Amino acid sequence: MNLHEYQGKEMLNSFGVEIQRGIVAQTPAEAVAAAKKLTEDTGTGWHVIKAQIHAGGRGKGGGVKLAKNLEEVEQIAGQIIGMHLVTPQTSAEGKLVSQVLVTEDVYYPGESEPSEFYISVLMNRATGRNMIMYSTEGGMDIEAVAENTPHLIFNEEIDPTMGLLPFQARKIAFNLGLSGKAFKEMTKFVSALYTAYVKSDSSLFEINPVLKTSDDRVIAVDAKVTIDDNALFRHKDYEVLRDIREENAVEVEAKAVGLSYVDLDGNVGCMVNGAGLAMATMDLIKQAGGEPANFLDVGGTADAERVEIAFNLILKDPSVKAILVNIFGGIVRCDRVAQGIIDAYKSIGTINIPIIVRLEGTNADIAKKLIDESGLDVHSVIEFQEAADKVQELLA
Ligand code: GDP
Ligand code: MN
Repeated sequence: MNLHEYQGKEMLNSFGVEIQRGIVAQTPAEAVAAAKKLTEDTGTGWHVIKAQIHAGGRGKGGGVKLAKNLEEVEQIAGQIIGMHLVTPQTSAEGKLVSQVLVTEDVYYPGESEPSEFYISVLMNRATGRNMIMYSTEGGMDIEAVAENTPHLIFNEEIDPTMGLLPFQARKIAFNLGLSGKAFKEMTKFVSALYTAYVKSDSSLFEINPVLKTSDDRVIAVDAKVTIDDNALFRHKDYEVLRDIREENAVEVEAKAVGLSYVDLDGNVGCMVNGAGLAMATMDLIKQAGGEPANFLDVGGTADAERVEIAFNLILKDPSVKAILVNIFGGIVRCDRVAQGIIDAYKSIGTINIPIIVRLEGTNADIAKKLIDESGLDVHSVIEFQEAADKVQELLA
């Protein structure tokens, strides 16, 4: 589950991570009220208005703007709320902005220059350990830094039994070129950040930029937080942070009925039982020259009702040109599934694209007969390769 910047910052702050202060607003009037309150609380003169959508690169798309007085706060909030913000991380249509975060300006002049760093916390899947990835090149596109100047990105791996050790936090602050008060602030920041990561069961924190202010405070200016869905049951209080407007509508619907569905870009819809077989089926489609339109695991009980729900989900994607059903009948009997497909097909009524069905396992032969005799535009095959060939033939 992804959080909005404002939610991520609040969560981090609850674990003692210093943040750029902000108040979320849904209208320009609320933005002005928020700005006034921030001035009272922090003394800030200027404010930053930041679009709240689940995508990065907002600054580049015009979704982050500095306001130097309350008229500008109102005007900029008015521009950003309701816009379709296009960033390098959104589709070409962009995302509708329904709220902004009004923040204090933290790039104020002072003793030293403000400087921006990059810090993320994530799992290193190769070693199975959490790591802190960090760089002096904050504020910009980290992918470009990784591409052009990979030596400027550092990793610090954390032993799960020891947790982040104080010397590791000091090493990070040192590698970021800090000294004096800023050095101490950075070690505190990193420790609090890591504690927050572990305690919230997150799978990704990306703070870009972490800012060292001109008076040597260290604060999170941006926050991308992803909480591990599989751990949400331990954090009932986080459930309210879910913003389904930001999620894929079909995925949300699938989740509600207990199906694991992931939307993809291709043209062949897949309905499969078992995650492993679903992955293999997607490979098969690619090999045959198609592109899978989705990952869909209908689970062990592929009965008529589930098959119908699954068909309906797949058919919501207009780019689907064919559907491949690949079911292995172990406990579930293939003839039952075949009947389910026939019933679902008839009940939906208007499926204008070919369906290729591969049923293998218990009663596969009976199942094939049922489908072949149904008179529907359903092509039944038994071999994996036949299924691939059929997909290729029907897409050509
Ligand atoms: P992103 O573009 O989606 O990554 O959004 P960020 O939250 O990272 O903000 C983009 C940029 O806005 C930052 O890299 C900063 O350069 C700028 N910015 C953010 N907060 C402030 C601020 O308080 N004052 C000023 N002057 N610039 C800011
Ligand atoms: Mn950012």
